[in-house]
Amino acid sequence: MNIKRKLIATTLTLILTGPAWLATNPVLAAGPAAKPCRPGSSACQVQPLSTTEAATLTFMREEEKLARDIYLNLDQAWGLPPFRNIAASEQNHMDAIKAKLDKYQLPDPALPEIGAFKNVELQQLYDELLARGEASYLEGLQVGGLIEEVDIEDLDTAIAATNHADLAQVYESLLCGSRNHLRSFAAAIEAQGTVYKAQYLDQSEVDAIIDSPMERNGVCGAGGGNR
Ligand code: MN
Ligand code: MN
Repeated sequence: MNIKRKLIATTLTLILTGPAWLATNPVLAAGPAAKPCRPGSSACQVQPLSTTEAATLTFMREEEKLARDIYLNLDQAWGLPPFRNIAASEQNHMDAIKAKLDKYQLPDPALPEIGAFKNVELQQLYDELLARGEASYLEGLQVGGLIEEVDIEDLDTAIAATNHADLAQVYESLLCGSRNHLRSFAAAIEAQGTVYKAQYLDQSEVDAIIDSPMERNGVCGAGGGNR
């Protein structure tokens, strides 16, 4: 691993601190199990989230905001695709998470200001990624690819750690969007004459995504794409 990649890896441990730490904390990981809910049943009530599920949902709201805010700024900096379209998709992702925070009566961590975060690790990561992305258009595209790779990993972890089908469904939809976003950034990078190399996930996983076509229907759902 060269120094640049090592720096990236170090930076990215920050974004995983929240869920990864909670997932390995046995006290916080032990929450009530959700019971199956039959539609129309009078016994069908909202099953509360475990502490871990609630923390992950809260974290994902700000992680989607980080993506949106970086892309809004990089669109302003470069005025070139695909930042604007993908920022709009990230707004949809933020909205989808917000709907679940409301459903489970959890407070919204998202601050109204662009580029401001309650989570201090996400704030630091935002500042570092924005500075990198403002260095050049190509670096901006690489930052986009990096954000999407981390998002994919975090969403996979979130899906594995929930027993609420509605949360898994939202995370799957966001995951589909992230795969499309990664395809868009990789294509834009390759249009600049640079081969896209995995920055966080395994190269084989990245290749399987970017070598397959954009997903326009199905699990991506409303707001899952970037067009
Ligand atoms: Mn997203
Ligand atoms: Mn994305």
